Amino acid sequence: MAKGEFSLIDFISTHFKVPEGMVGIGDDCAIIPSYGEDTLVSTDMLLEGIHFLRTKASPEDIGWKAAAVNLSDIAAMGGVPTATFLSMALPADAQGEWAERFIVGYAEISRLYNVPLLGGDTTSSLRDIAINVGVKGRCPQGKAIGRNGAKVGETIFVTGPLGDSGAGLKAILEQLPSTPLVDHLIGKHLRPTPRLAEGVALRQTERVGAMMDISDGIASDLRHILRCSGVGATIELSSLPLSEELRQMCTLHDWNPTDLALTAGEDYELLLTGPDNLPELVEFPLHPIGTITEDRELCWMHNGRKVRYNKKGFSHF
Ligand code: ADP
Ligand code: MG
Repeated sequence: MAKGEFSLIDFISTHFKVPEGMVGIGDDCAIIPSYGEDTLVSTDMLLEGIHFLRTKASPEDIGWKAAAVNLSDIAAMGGVPTATFLSMALPADAQGEWAERFIVGYAEISRLYNVPLLGGDTTSSLRDIAINVGVKGRCPQGKAIGRNGAKVGETIFVTGPLGDSGAGLKAILEQLPSTPLVDHLIGKHLRPTPRLAEGVALRQTERVGAMMDISDGIASDLRHILRCSGVGATIELSSLPLSEELRQMCTLHDWNPTDLALTAGEDYELLLTGPDNLPELVEFPLHPIGTITEDRELCWMHNGRKVRYNKKGFSHF
């Protein structure tokens, strides 16, 4: 659901009081303190026809992605995942081989990150497949990194290139014939990497202001950090990290790389704020893309000049 999604979530949150000491609706995970540490909980759905097409992705890839996007929400808080729960509503034609192959992909990523599946629910569906994953994680008490801690003057970073997943999806939808380049980008879309080790290392620096994972694209995701933190931001479009593969693909097909990087989403890299020397404190690349500002606006710059940005790209004022 896109249109109205956030106003419905606001409506829901007005009907429930968050108990003292807990964090509820509004961040990548809820936080429930227990026995001297914080338990992180999140849940995410994947629906056939909305999030995936059975004809365009293998069941193994969908299984991988269902787990990956949930693990990514634990990474977004700097947590360590402890268990997942899997609920599946399956139409008759997906109850046999499709479901087993889905589990093979789900098990593959679960083994890779050493996260057990501890339960779930299985039911039939009239037509479409619906998958819901719940994930539980842990974090030292009070140390989880939310969306609300961005401070004026902090630098905005991302952990990796943006737009590859969006280009992969475009390649799938446009039915581009297989080439090493096309297959690489489609792989980025189908099998995202949750940035779990990076999330923990960033939390351990104790210098990160706000953090989230990039599911919708930074043009939209960054606004959550700005709203939750009561700040604004300036993003330098020429600093967006773009992979060589994305650049090549965009040149070949006349696609707009900036648009893919900002709005296509599903990169599942981390978006975070911190001091400008933060990259010196971790052992993986952090790409600076902008600065947190006081006025509550999101401003786009290109080579130091303010630009207007919309779906068609950016233009100078
Ligand atoms: P993410 O992209 O990190 O998964 P979402 O944009 O899906 O986050 O959700 C934003 C916030 O709203 C999260 O804190 C999530 O738990 C909460 N949320 C979304 N839908 C519901 C719902 N139906 N009931 C309660 N909370 C919800
Ligand atoms: Mg998230």
